[in-house]
Amino acid sequence: MSWTEELVSELGVLWSKGLSTAEIGRKLGVTKNAVVGKAHRLALDPRPSPIIHRAKPVDSYNGPRCQWPEGHPGAADFHFCSAPVVEGRPYCPDHCTRAYMPPKPASEKAASRRAA
Ligand SMILES: [Zn+2]
Repeated sequence: MSWTEELVSELGVLWSKGLSTAEIGRKLGVTKNAVVGKAHRLALDPRPSPIIHRAKPVDSYNGPRCQWPEGHPGAADFHFCSAPVVEGRPYCPDHCTRAYMPPKPASEKAASRRAA
């Protein structure tokens, strides 16, 4: 098989997105081994293992991790968000917004009270 310029740039994009070599191969229509070999020749960054590639890239972060549960407890894909947390909170900024969001905007509550 021949690597066109287009395929090579696509490989670089998919690679940087953290797709597994098998997934990249499927998308490009080449074998996993072809992907691995080409990536090696292009000296692309070494891949993390497929199991941890879904983790968000966080450089040398050793602080507390977001405890927000994702998925249903007991399900195979259940995991915690584990992004870096807001200081003093158990969750990352995104999940703090969700965890501490008031049930209703204050203005809406005041309006319904006036109507009653
Ligand atoms: Zn989170």
